Amino acid sequence: MYDRAILHLDLDSFFVSVECLKNSSLLGKPLLIGGTSNRGVVASCSYEARRFGVHSAMPMKMALRLCPQAIVLRGDMDSYSKYSGIVTDIIAEEAPVYEKASIDEFYLDLTGMDKHFGCFKWSSELRQKIIRESGLPISFGLSVNKMVSKVGTGEAKPNGTKAIPSGTEKLFLAPLPVGKIPGVGDQTHKKLNFMGVRTIETLSQIPVKLLEREFGKPGRTLWERANAIDPTPIVPYHEQKSMSKERTFTEDTLDVTMMKHMLLDMADKLSFELRASGKLTSTVTVKIRYADLNTYTKQKNISYTANDRILGQHVLELFDKLYERRQLIRLIGVKYSGLVQGSYQINLFDDTIEHIHLMQQMDRIRRRFGADAIMRASGLTKANVLREPPHLPVDGG
Ligand SMILES: [Mg+2]
Repeated sequence: MYDRAILHLDLDSFFVSVECLKNSSLLGKPLLIGGTSNRGVVASCSYEARRFGVHSAMPMKMALRLCPQAIVLRGDMDSYSKYSGIVTDIIAEEAPVYEKASIDEFYLDLTGMDKHFGCFKWSSELRQKIIRESGLPISFGLSVNKMVSKVGTGEAKPNGTKAIPSGTEKLFLAPLPVGKIPGVGDQTHKKLNFMGVRTIETLSQIPVKLLEREFGKPGRTLWERANAIDPTPIVPYHEQKSMSKERTFTEDTLDVTMMKHMLLDMADKLSFELRASGKLTSTVTVKIRYADLNTYTKQKNISYTANDRILGQHVLELFDKLYERRQLIRLIGVKYSGLVQGSYQINLFDDTIEHIHLMQQMDRIRRRFGADAIMRASGLTKANVLREPPHLPVDGG
């Protein structure tokens, strides 16, 4: 078996770096970006703020208690999206196959690259090019798989590089705390600490059966990661520009209450899809088709979000503006477009802690039991709804 060469690139405190690029007087200052309301969340923070114990996803209130002198900015997804695009274009130009894992994170498969040139040299030159052309600091990790490279990037930050030569992966991971393994969240972390497991080395020595008993199926993944095993491939990046849902009624209807419930349900499911794929939307469209087959749409530009509550409100507003003919309706639909990559949890500048937790809980249930597991409480009967129309293949004819 021959070794793979996987490069992981990650922009350093991306939102903060973009803000500093736009306004250099912010450089070197403790900076918090996120929800500015009383119950908002920190989406990104500068290294100067981290020194006070602040981290992303922390309640803004707590961050300001730790670091009262911090400058707080609301954040601007449009510029973050723009700079993410600039970096993506540079990478796309140099490496035809790459995975965009989030708004500021990329994986490249360099396996088979000319040995004389060398993966590390190539990666370093790519990194320099990104820094030169975008003005943003970026770090990378290079190893035989995605997971080890990602951990490597974490160790390389800020603004550095880390190569883990083939065969030394376990050695590299061994002394690190278990919390550095991607995917180890608060719960798992607590449980491992409770079990007395603090370093990745200790974790790697626990029998996989025992981990499966304690953690269920993810126990095996945990064991594999601790043992530097990660066969997952690079998933080539294709920009998804929009997502939509439509419903055609078996009998044309005037029942506005039922239609509104249905629109809200579509808005919820699409919001879940956004979050599940790490995306945010900036444009909401509602569509109605009357019994006479005349079709109308209305759309609205909004600030980037994946929040079901906010999106649901926009959908209902658009429907109210759109539905004025008081005629029988045959079809209704919702579309989210202007999508950008953006990890949902850290990008919702308008969210409160409580609602984020609620959405996370619902998302967990949906992931386990399917998207239909949760529906808004409503008296609607599903009998009057056809299945979604099948996607017809494009006729290239
Ligand atoms: Mg980053």
